[in-house]
Amino acid sequence: MPRLQITTMIGCHLMCTFCPQDNLKESYGAHNDRKDRGKKYLSIENFRRVIDKLPKHVRIDFSGMSEPWANPDCTQMLRYALEQNRHVAIYTTLYGMTEKDADGVVTLLRRLRPQAHHRKSSHARLL
Ligand code: SF4
Repeated sequence: MPRLQITTMIGCHLMCTFCPQDNLKESYGAHNDRKDRGKKYLSIENFRRVIDKLPKHVRIDFSGMSEPWANPDCTQMLRYALEQNRHVAIYTTLYGMTEKDADGVVTLLRRLRPQAHHRKSSHARLL
């Protein structure tokens, strides 16, 4: 299944030593000359614009080059994707995810993806 990775913000706070964050920041700054240049966070409006144009068989991966919930609108983006009946995958350390976000994600997955599965791990208790 083809996938689109969503990077919800530029400049992940975690700064892992192996991550090419600097390349991304340089590249984004050098090639983004639209009016929204310099914006750090992907807006929900731009997210919707992309998703609405994306073929239905493409999975939306909340991963990309930042922790997805470093953007406070990530739960809203997930809600939109699920309500559009999209396939989604989430890769996160939970950085930036508030308790309210976590409750929202669990509620969305239970309501819209009751068949959702997850890797057995220390955060398996979420579901
Ligand atoms: S995007 Fe991932 S690998 Fe890169 S700094 Fe953030 S958490 Fe680390």
